[in-house]
Amino acid sequence: MAAVRDLRASEAADIGDDAVELAKRHLIQPWPYAGSVGAEARALIGEGDGIYITDSTGKRLIDGPAGMWCVNVGHRREELARVMYDQAMALSYNTPWYTMNAPSAELAKRIAGHAPGDLSHVFYTTGGSSAVETALRFMQFYNNVRGRPEKKLILSRGGAYHGSTYLSASLNGRPRDRDWMDGADELVIKLSSPDPFRRPHGMSLAAFTDFLVDQFLDTVARVGAEKIGAFVGEPVQASGGVVVPPDGYLKRIRQICRDNDILYVSDEVVTAFGRLGHVFASGDMFGIDPDMITFAKGVTSGYFPLGGVIISERLLEELRRSNHPDALFGHGLTYTSHPVGCAVALKNLDLLEEGVLAHTQDVAPYFQAQLKTLEELPLVGEVRGLGLMGCVECVADRESKDPLQLDKDVGKRIDAHCHELGLLVRPLINMCVMSPPLVITREQIDDMVGILREGISRTMDDLR
Ligand code: PLP
Repeated sequence: MAAVRDLRASEAADIGDDAVELAKRHLIQPWPYAGSVGAEARALIGEGDGIYITDSTGKRLIDGPAGMWCVNVGHRREELARVMYDQAMALSYNTPWYTMNAPSAELAKRIAGHAPGDLSHVFYTTGGSSAVETALRFMQFYNNVRGRPEKKLILSRGGAYHGSTYLSASLNGRPRDRDWMDGADELVIKLSSPDPFRRPHGMSLAAFTDFLVDQFLDTVARVGAEKIGAFVGEPVQASGGVVVPPDGYLKRIRQICRDNDILYVSDEVVTAFGRLGHVFASGDMFGIDPDMITFAKGVTSGYFPLGGVIISERLLEELRRSNHPDALFGHGLTYTSHPVGCAVALKNLDLLEEGVLAHTQDVAPYFQAQLKTLEELPLVGEVRGLGLMGCVECVADRESKDPLQLDKDVGKRIDAHCHELGLLVRPLINMCVMSPPLVITREQIDDMVGILREGISRTMDDLR
């Protein structure tokens, strides 16, 4: 043990405690490329405050993506820090196998109170991937117990992102997520993304919706409903580029799932807990009552890794009444129902209910309208979004919407210029995604959009 300590001390002295150097030597960043895996330096963030973060040079940046869609009530909320401290001092952990804690039960009650339909019970996880994984494993268990072991296939869509565990990642629909990665492909069927911007040239929105619905129906008919266990979909595809589906599409898909006994899993890891101005968007915005909703991120505003699945009372009741009362759902996580996570989530929910949701609903139209002005720039093919989710999609040519000639660097170039100007953006190849902390004001939205405009203009200059 002493030797380990000595080594660390000498290393730290060697490289002057420089976190970036330490990271290059010892940290594997998420989504690394083979050529730089374990040897990469990214911008070092030192502090956060409200909608701002400060990098290691002392530069203050607007946190355009709110971390990864998650710092909903903003950075440095003392109420949240205090609650975590108090809970850790009272009970930092209890084994969920044999005991339970009060914050997890109280939070489950309040989550169920906001959820649509008969979603009544919460299984907590450590984040979004494990929430989706849990929902899928629950579907498998449910069908096994009900004597339908064939009913396991999962419908997912292009452009989807559902996580980085094996099964959840198998659902991902962005090619670059899967190009070099394996997955449970035999279990997943991919449908088209409901992306109106990328619909076939000349097709009306109504015809596009019919096309998507027909594709779903045809797939069910071709494969057989008796083989399909679940459909998993984000109400608004987030990492796919803030894809807002055409009106009525989700309701129609929901109905087909109901008609065919296919479980509808609404992945609200991004959209829940305020991003669209509601605790859950499925019911309040899209008028659907899924069989399961997955959530994470905003549930604690990113202050603690927590996620979960809310499951329909009907499904649980069917299991309780099945012929296999002794069948074990062999699924559990050490940190399920974590008391510190649940305590901070309760306080976070207070903040949302006491004003942040109303504020989001108030500023969202302004945010969308200001972002939309960026369509004046020739590089911008479309600006789209909902609530406090927005995406600027760049194209090489507006008529053909060709993103390819500008592939790879456009988002990164805009990001680099914006960083210099005081805004962190999330580049996605030829897109920039914006999802600031929900507490952003109109003036701050002006600042953010002004910087983004300048960052895009500078990028256009680069490309000239
Ligand atoms: N589902 C959606 C819609 C997401 O956007 C994400 C992450 O961005 C996940 C699931 C996975 O969540 P996590 O990264 O917390 O595992």
